[in-house]
Amino acid sequence: MIRLDEILEKVQSYAPDADLGILRKAWVFGSKYHQGQQRKSGEPYFAHPLEVANILAGLRMDTETIAVAILHDTVEDTEATGQDIQSQFGTDVAAMVDGVTKLKKLDFRTAEEAQAESFRKLVFAMAKDIRVIVVKLADRLHNMRTLDAMPAAKKLRISRETMELYAPIANRLGIVSIQGELQDLSFKYLHEDVYAQLNSEVEARRPYFEAYIDRVRNEIVEALRPYGFEAEVKGRVKRLWSIWLKMQDKQLTFEEVHDLIAFRVLVDDVGACYGVLGAIHGLWSPHSELFKDYIAQPKANGYRSLHTTVVGPEGHRIEVQIRTQDMHRLAEFGIAAHWKYKEGKLALKPEEIAQYTKIRQLLQWAEDIEDSREFLDVLKVDLYADQVHVYTPAGDIRWFPAGATTLDFAYAIHSEVGQHCSGARVNDRMVKLNYQLRAGDTIEIITRNDQHPTKDWLKFAVTSRALSKIRHFLRREENNRAMEMGRTLLDQELRKHRLSLKGLLKDDGLRRALDEFHHPSPDQLYADVGYGRLAPTKVLALYVAPEMLAAEEEEEEVGTMSLSGLFRRMARRGGSPVRIHGMDGMLTVFAKCCRPLPGEPIIGFITRGRGITVHMSTCRQALALPAERRVDVEWDRQNSGNHAARISVVTVDRPMMLAELTRAVGKMNVNITKAEARTQRGEKAQILLEVSVHDARQLQSLMNDISRLKGVVSVSRERTP
Ligand code: MN
Repeated sequence: MIRLDEILEKVQSYAPDADLGILRKAWVFGSKYHQGQQRKSGEPYFAHPLEVANILAGLRMDTETIAVAILHDTVEDTEATGQDIQSQFGTDVAAMVDGVTKLKKLDFRTAEEAQAESFRKLVFAMAKDIRVIVVKLADRLHNMRTLDAMPAAKKLRISRETMELYAPIANRLGIVSIQGELQDLSFKYLHEDVYAQLNSEVEARRPYFEAYIDRVRNEIVEALRPYGFEAEVKGRVKRLWSIWLKMQDKQLTFEEVHDLIAFRVLVDDVGACYGVLGAIHGLWSPHSELFKDYIAQPKANGYRSLHTTVVGPEGHRIEVQIRTQDMHRLAEFGIAAHWKYKEGKLALKPEEIAQYTKIRQLLQWAEDIEDSREFLDVLKVDLYADQVHVYTPAGDIRWFPAGATTLDFAYAIHSEVGQHCSGARVNDRMVKLNYQLRAGDTIEIITRNDQHPTKDWLKFAVTSRALSKIRHFLRREENNRAMEMGRTLLDQELRKHRLSLKGLLKDDGLRRALDEFHHPSPDQLYADVGYGRLAPTKVLALYVAPEMLAAEEEEEEVGTMSLSGLFRRMARRGGSPVRIHGMDGMLTVFAKCCRPLPGEPIIGFITRGRGITVHMSTCRQALALPAERRVDVEWDRQNSGNHAARISVVTVDRPMMLAELTRAVGKMNVNITKAEARTQRGEKAQILLEVSVHDARQLQSLMNDISRLKGVVSVSRERTP
């Protein structure tokens, strides 16, 4: 059993002039009343309140709160009364003990009505004194640590309640250290087999991990020595629950999880954080897209730290978090880190509590909403703001990021289920694919063989797994269509010369041509033609009759068919996006100087032997051309196709900007054909994008979307190449 002295020493280490008398008095009171009582494990009962007190001392709580921990079970489980406590310890302590006692009486049996009322009581208790809930969290943590002694059914019930209620509350209060341990312990009982398997895999590698952690720690310490930074370097294997969440989310096996080890470097000031970052990037190469600067841009809950992921020794991916000691305390202890030492007592004002958490809002709701069930709904939404848990029909729990839909759920079950998902039953009610999962839903997916992913699906899938599977399917489907189209176009072109694809494949002519021009495969060639990246005539010229191309350059006629004749037929067959008055079927080319898009006013100029060049009607170069070669042209709505356009985006110069931008544009379903970043003076960057769009309106809306992205300063159309 932990000795009182250990707790007192701990308290003195952070609060040298704290009043330890109240703790000694609480110890005497508690040990007297709990005398002779035992826990299920056979241990003396008093060990439990002392351990709870010890956890709170670890959080550096004030002495009153720690005294409450020592006393928290006396009124409920012994002869002691609230009156006894009030006369010996005063009103505040008595009120807190009363609060914890009432929480303990909560009935968490499955009936939703009862549960809802319990939640409500819990929040009311918090409203009175936030410290009550911190004691309750520590109490729950110690109970979870000693849960083994309980019967199986009780283990499950308590673990579920811990995972669904206490861990999210710890998260809301920012007490990450308690949250993490509560989740891991609940995980252990809720998914016994999975946990055991994962645990044994981690344990089997533990000696290796430890040696590795030592090595990295030493290398970091060595690298920092020349700079003279006082740094504390800690390494750890990530928590099983977070490893498992990642395996679930990304559908990975344990072997495929690459970032099992995480490091923290704690320094004294902000300047040193960036110094350490530089030193670490000098040691190992960083994954620049995984770098996060939460010091410059703190998270909504106030979290500050630098996160970088590097390729460490032996090629392992390791995450390093760099922060000051103060930032660290805040990150680990959350609300408990804000306790201030005041007039010999540690305390936190209610308005300070509200400032750091969303708790105030919850308290408001608790007072305003009379119906317990309704309140439970509100509370659940808030507690699970970042994650929702839902159930399979078999009762298995699955976790998703907030905003995930039935489609994400379907892909999480199996990629084939996702691929053919046509709807779902949620709590026995039919819903659509874009239904957003709510905490506690039971989901059954309905599949249909003729159902396939469509572009729309990208709009309501949220998880990376679903998105990548859908994109993969769409790409493959599109590629097949392009290949089919390319094959047809090529074959038509060849037939005009009494050749056929079949014949060329048979006598290996195509193969030889491909080799010569380094085209990987006929399929790739067909696709290029189908996508319009390569004109069939060009293929014909390059691969079948190179002399035709040479002839075109000299504007001479080849054989019986003139090139302009060939092009004319092409234009007729392939369909031009532009209609020319009085000259049907002419080949049209878009001027590179102004790159007009469908919807913009255009004008055509006849060129010798190369059809008609189409300019913007306002293009300076076009205005300089002789008027007698001008022809009126207009867009053919039926035949617009895709057009290349260039835009210039000026952004703040962040290392990730180009990647973020291309990702955002990809999400808007626009293809980028080229991207280029340049740094300008004054900490700005210019990014040039070449995109493929249908018309001017699509480009305009794309530009509007881009201009709304974070970090974008301006967006403009780029006319000259
Ligand atoms: Mn207890």
